[in-house]
Amino acid sequence: MFESFRVETKQRTGLVDITDDIVACIRTSKVKHGLACVYCPHTTAAITINENCDPSVQTDITNILSKLIPQNAGYAHSEGNADAHAKAAVIGSSRMLFIEDGKPVLGRWQGVFLCEFDGPRTREVRVKICKE
Ligand code: ZN
Repeated sequence: MFESFRVETKQRTGLVDITDDIVACIRTSKVKHGLACVYCPHTTAAITINENCDPSVQTDITNILSKLIPQNAGYAHSEGNADAHAKAAVIGSSRMLFIEDGKPVLGRWQGVFLCEFDGPRTREVRVKICKE
């Protein structure tokens, strides 16, 4: 079994801080020490861990990805969202977190983010929590 929650994204691209949702999933599980796998079951969204203090970092990450992988560049995929698929592939679908004392172990400036690359949409995040 796994916990899950939904995220309503508001823009085509952007990072959404889901750290509090992960904390809530771990609390619900009652696991004090173990691992949490945070997974996104979508082909044009991804999961990452990065700075959640200064929001300009999130803006820079999305802008850098958009420069590297432009929206329209003669792609083969005909849906018009080939860039979003490629960005999601680069970032990846999941991240693993340690759980200690019932909380995710993160650096002082770190948060967990859903990366939206083809929004706005309703996204699902799944969290598999295992006891140590
Ligand atoms: Zn597509």
